[in-house]
Amino acid sequence: MFGRGSFNQLGDILEPKRLNTKAPFIFYVDEVFKGNAWLTSRIPLSYNDKVIYVSSDQEPKTSQIDALVEEIILTQKEMPSGIIGIGGGCLLDIAKAVSIMLTNEGKSEDYQGWDLVKKPAIYHLGVPTISGTGAEVSRTTILTGPERKLGINSDYTPFDQVILDPELTANVPKDQWFYTGMDCYVHCIESLNGTYLNAFSKSYGEKAFELCKEIFLSDTLSKEESQDKLMMASWHGGMSIAYSQVGVAHAMSYGLGYLLGTKHGIGNCIVFDHLEEYYPDGVALFKQMKEKHDIQLPQGICANLSDDEFDIMIDVALSLEPLWENAIGKNWKKTITREKLKSLYQKM
Ligand code: NAD
Ligand code: ZN
Repeated sequence: MFGRGSFNQLGDILEPKRLNTKAPFIFYVDEVFKGNAWLTSRIPLSYNDKVIYVSSDQEPKTSQIDALVEEIILTQKEMPSGIIGIGGGCLLDIAKAVSIMLTNEGKSEDYQGWDLVKKPAIYHLGVPTISGTGAEVSRTTILTGPERKLGINSDYTPFDQVILDPELTANVPKDQWFYTGMDCYVHCIESLNGTYLNAFSKSYGEKAFELCKEIFLSDTLSKEESQDKLMMASWHGGMSIAYSQVGVAHAMSYGLGYLLGTKHGIGNCIVFDHLEEYYPDGVALFKQMKEKHDIQLPQGICANLSDDEFDIMIDVALSLEPLWENAIGKNWKKTITREKLKSLYQKM
């Protein structure tokens, strides 16, 4: 569902999905909205429905998902009617992961990978409040586990329903707008320049790329038009990678995220800034966007790391084989060596 103000229809959408009065809807809402009556007064609560505020200061962890699932199991008499995520990529991924883990046994770390989920998730609905990740449309939920940062990629991961209301993104701080928006831009570049590209991914990727150029480089859009277009760019960028893969920036950014806790959007920006060797045109345009919006990226975040720490990041990055195969091709191991990755990380 798309439209300014469409968030008001959340109650109408959920009503027919309620299983019974004892089966609640659980709303995971970004903590940034705590006390924000404009948003929270429109969350339709009845019976045992519950709002749980979750911080997005750190990206979702498998242990956090397991704890949230356990809390539901211990406090609710019945399985919820549905899980609703309201926020950025963190909250959307939390809602997806909890809805999967309510019906699948074991720990969420057991399902990190591709197509390991056995049973359908319970009904889940996503409401993005910041645009760029494509988490609202993708078939993954990215979690940091004890051993790796990797998504639960499955046919049961995507939301049953998504509400795209660009009005909800109005108060995103400028730097965060840029970092999360650039996640979308990087999705397009990595998809369009990858060996996995196909007609499906290309058509969505090209559209998202056009929108990103308009949003981040032109001066003609109103604030509202820009919000509307970025929400659709995010969607198209997510669709584009759904049928292909991301590439070098994501693989290396996961390494930063795993070791240093660098968040996805800013991490991609820090890495992408140094990838002219792999994406010359995309990086040149990125630098123009950065300058136009006066964005200062952190420098020297790897300056004081030990060899062991570099090794940890390199291990995480190299483990993401499909990303490298997409970016470089089947023979990627010939050029993507540990030394090569270390020299790139050392620039960041
Ligand atoms: P986020 O969820 O980390 O939020 C970023 C910041 O913006 C937070 O401080 C949050 O409180 C704030 N925020 C969100 N909406 C706001 C609003 N309307 N007004 C003011 N502040 C607001 O941001 P993100 O970049 O959207 O998500 C990053 C996460 O998404 C990472 O965990 C990453 O792994 C994940 N991700 C998932 C996918 C996927 O396909 N599942 C794809 C890319 C990234
Ligand atoms: Zn991304």
